[in-house]
Amino acid sequence: MQVRYMGQKEAVLFLGPPGAGKGTVAQSWREKRDIAYLSTGDMCRTHIREESVLGKELDSYISKGQLVPDDLISRMVEEWLKGIAKSGETLLLDGYPRTAPQVHHWLEMLAKHAPEYTSRVVFFEISLQMVTERLTSRMICSNVSCARVYPGGSTASTNDCTKCGASLLQRSDDENEVIRKRLHVYEQNKAALLAAYKKTNTLVTTFNVEQVAYADMFTQFNRVFTEQSGS
Ligand code: AMP
Repeated sequence: MQVRYMGQKEAVLFLGPPGAGKGTVAQSWREKRDIAYLSTGDMCRTHIREESVLGKELDSYISKGQLVPDDLISRMVEEWLKGIAKSGETLLLDGYPRTAPQVHHWLEMLAKHAPEYTSRVVFFEISLQMVTERLTSRMICSNVSCARVYPGGSTASTNDCTKCGASLLQRSDDENEVIRKRLHVYEQNKAALLAAYKKTNTLVTTFNVEQVAYADMFTQFNRVFTEQSGS
């Protein structure tokens, strides 16, 4: 059996509903190791802040809780991949692929630009009730270069980021009605996404996060990720 560990040429794809803890694990991982990280949600929000034509188009989907069209998001990911494919670092994608067509786009672009990489999915499994509770209390740091996530809201006595001191805010798409829509979209795509991974023999590691406290998230992730390595 071939055992693969973090640090080898793997493209790790985080799959799970918003609020499952993907960003929290990614944040800890990035603090500990050099990895090439892409959050497609953050990438979209950067364009929106810049108020570019692309940003306005992206906002028209995101503000309603809809997915950005597959071709558009895949083109953006491909640009990123072309830029970092030669670095040799582990790749970590948070929030992409999100639909079955995106799985096929991803595998094609990886074969084209970084054929030495193998894709591996980590599926964050959690009930919709739990993520709804988490999302409604979630806060994020307003400083975009910090962007620390506070899953259960602020724990400090002030409403400031404990890392950089900037004020915390709620993401506009964490508002109740938009959350409901985002979770619905996630549920609609989940089965087809998992089927696409099965069909393409992509390794899927299930990480059950229902009972995992945020403070233990990365330790538990490491354990599950390493135990389920192999092909
Ligand atoms: P996130 O921060 O990952 O929850 O993403 C926020 C929003 O960005 C989503 O609700 C979508 O509108 C958009 N988005 C992010 N990634 C994708 C993707 N892979 N496909 C389509 N839309 C995306």
